[in-house]
Amino acid sequence: MTAEQMIKRLVEFDTVSRESNLPLIEYVESYLDDLGVQSRRVANEDGLKSNLYATVGPEEEGGVVLSGHTDVVPVDGQDWATDPFALTQQGGRLHGRGTCDMKGFIGIALALVPEMKMLRRPVHFALSYDEEIGCRGAPAMINQLATELPAPRAVIVGEPTSMTAVTGHKGIVALKTTVRGYETHSSQTNRGVSAVMNAARLVSYLGAMAERLEKETPSDNGFNPHHSTVHVGVINGGTAMNIVSRHCEFVWDIRNIPGDEPQQLIDEFEVFCRDEILPGMRSRWSDCFICTEVIARAPEFAPAESAALELVQQLTGVAETGRGAYVAEAGLFQAAGFPTVMCGPGSIDQAHQPNEFISLEQVTAGEKFLRSVIEELAS
Ligand SMILES: [Zn+2]
Repeated sequence: MTAEQMIKRLVEFDTVSRESNLPLIEYVESYLDDLGVQSRRVANEDGLKSNLYATVGPEEEGGVVLSGHTDVVPVDGQDWATDPFALTQQGGRLHGRGTCDMKGFIGIALALVPEMKMLRRPVHFALSYDEEIGCRGAPAMINQLATELPAPRAVIVGEPTSMTAVTGHKGIVALKTTVRGYETHSSQTNRGVSAVMNAARLVSYLGAMAERLEKETPSDNGFNPHHSTVHVGVINGGTAMNIVSRHCEFVWDIRNIPGDEPQQLIDEFEVFCRDEILPGMRSRWSDCFICTEVIARAPEFAPAESAALELVQQLTGVAETGRGAYVAEAGLFQAAGFPTVMCGPGSIDQAHQPNEFISLEQVTAGEKFLRSVIEELAS
């Protein structure tokens, strides 16, 4: 099977994060099984999604882990010229959801399994789910890999980096804050506590925090933007113009650069809620509250010299490295002690977009790179 054929098969599975990825996992499992490769699942709690990992070649140290997430972002509300869950070639491009992020990489790697016959050190596949909604799937698999795998030389996370080594990405904490006020007629603001208006004070506090981070952070760290960001993405609250609102909630995230501790920012926010906002609310109605919960978190990937970076630089011949503003699973692998680097075909500019595509030139570059990994492991 060619890389293009395999990418086509993978794109045809609708693995938007809210859906089960099991049909894709079953397909990959049986494909590998036909080639004599056993794989193992690490499922989520309700069993509707699963990671999959597999080792090709001898169970030896010094192998290479090829890591990719099987889920993709939704196409809702996006204007697609072609069916997002079919592979359509137009000019030198393969269009379809996930072609670039990151079924292209996974497809190329899987298509090359039949060429992995003479390996002296192994290729490990590590396929995850729920990466796009806060890297929720990979941690359980990475725990298992950390105890079971003979120490690999490198983990290559094949996010679309246009085949250059990316050695850092930001961390993320996703949060939800709920504000409970006290309902009255809006002519009686003296009796009520507005959840919406107090939430607005909290949001503007976060806005000031974001501005401060931008000003205070030295700008020469390679990240764009160079600072940790704080952003409120969704806010919902209130029932009518003439009702003092009882309920408001907003969803926000902190995307921290390596070295910034997101928990410090969360603590600072909590102190502001406790000391500056809540006392005034509770002086009117004692059951008012502000509650902030963490929905998801994933650690940053901190730039460092590593055997993984060396390997990629040697095989691509490109010394230059980059930083990702997005979040990926590299930070999780690094935190578990694996030498890790990000490098994969396709450009992040096309990820998550309508009419997402990978260029045939990038598919070829990805194949060339992975063949050089195989050669290295066979020598
Ligand atoms: Zn991705």
